[in-house]
Amino acid sequence: MEKGLISVDRWGEQSQAYFLTHLHADHTKGLSSKWKKGPLFCSPISANIFPAKFPGFKLSLLRILETGSPHSISLISPTSGSKIGVQVTPIDAHHCPGAVMYLFRGDFGCMLYTGDFRWETANDRALLGKSMLLGALGGDEVDFLYIDNTYCNPSFSFPPREVAAQQVIDVIASHPDHDIVIAIDTLGKEDLLLHISRTFRTKIWVWPERLQIMHLLGFSNIFTTKTSLTRIRAVPRYSLTIENLEALNTIHPTIGIMPSGLPSAMKPIHRKDASVGSSPSLQHSSKVSRNGTDGKPISRKSFHSCIYSIPYSDHSCFNEIQEFVKLIKPSNITGIVSSSFCYVNPRHFFGHLCGSNQQSNKPLKKLKRSEITENDRIIQPESILGCDKLNEEKVRDKNTKIAILSIRRRRVSIIRQEGCGAKIAETNGICRSDFDAGIT
Ligand SMILES: [Zn+2]
Repeated sequence: MEKGLISVDRWGEQSQAYFLTHLHADHTKGLSSKWKKGPLFCSPISANIFPAKFPGFKLSLLRILETGSPHSISLISPTSGSKIGVQVTPIDAHHCPGAVMYLFRGDFGCMLYTGDFRWETANDRALLGKSMLLGALGGDEVDFLYIDNTYCNPSFSFPPREVAAQQVIDVIASHPDHDIVIAIDTLGKEDLLLHISRTFRTKIWVWPERLQIMHLLGFSNIFTTKTSLTRIRAVPRYSLTIENLEALNTIHPTIGIMPSGLPSAMKPIHRKDASVGSSPSLQHSSKVSRNGTDGKPISRKSFHSCIYSIPYSDHSCFNEIQEFVKLIKPSNITGIVSSSFCYVNPRHFFGHLCGSNQQSNKPLKKLKRSEITENDRIIQPESILGCDKLNEEKVRDKNTKIAILSIRRRRVSIIRQEGCGAKIAETNGICRSDFDAGIT
């Protein structure tokens, strides 16, 4: 793709359109409340959470793309000045709320950018995501696959989240008198927390900013900021430390749960381990630390027994990445995570699965203008380069939908009358990107 057209999860470059896969901090570096380089495309859920993450952000820059629907965007070639048609389809990435992959198609070929993703294969949502992706591809090849390679190594093997969630339940159930602290990020693991809440019929404590996110996600009665209402607390990942657990245990027996696919945090969960992690061993160790009764320093390892690392991951394990590459059979593959301590170029493992073995000069299958179907949602250049007040109102108040829709209908007919470009979808199945952008 020509440089200067599209940026995905990169906010410092000059582009005509910016795409956000999801709102985790490592994908929003450079994005701020004052950022206003251009239109920012994202999923409806990300748009909903956006103001909480970036208060004061100019919401009229947001362009909301409905997941699973193809959208057509007109851009201008920085070199030739001619119009460039880009079709983009967001696909559920099954990572955290609002996370999507982007499938881009145009004269440059077919590009799939996964962002962070989990490719489970045995649940309804995963099957829906798969059919969404295959439907969007329509049998065409992916020329370039940019893939989440966080766990791109055969040593990363962990179960589906459903299985890991049961492990969390088992650990909590085996500590009926303990306080429980679970490490989470500012977004993600909501399904796990909901499962815990339902199983133990209890609210879950979260910190105030996280409560705001939960409310924006529609979970209003499950989470609380009152510690007196529950023994289960979800805390920021950075705060779950040995030192903090030790301090908590001086007040009340407490265990920590670290849901993660990271090997450094992984420890098999067996019944035997559960007893090792129970309060007596911690209290004993803590006592030694404070009183020094046996004269020996406490090894950090003894405190690790209070933290249960559960392989609950929002990223794909190695086998899932492999299945994904086998399914897509891209001509070229590139990892998007280059700073990982365990970085492995996905070509090392999957180069043989790629159609061209990475070196092909075969011509790209280009998406002709005529191939943009009438089901595509058309986004015109003026909406890319300009801002629309309606968009801001939409994000703030969903009740404006109807008014905006009627404006959109008028614009559809104006554009049809002008006979610009490809056909525009009828109001049936109107997508939010259209009226959010204030364009046809
Ligand atoms: Zn992420």
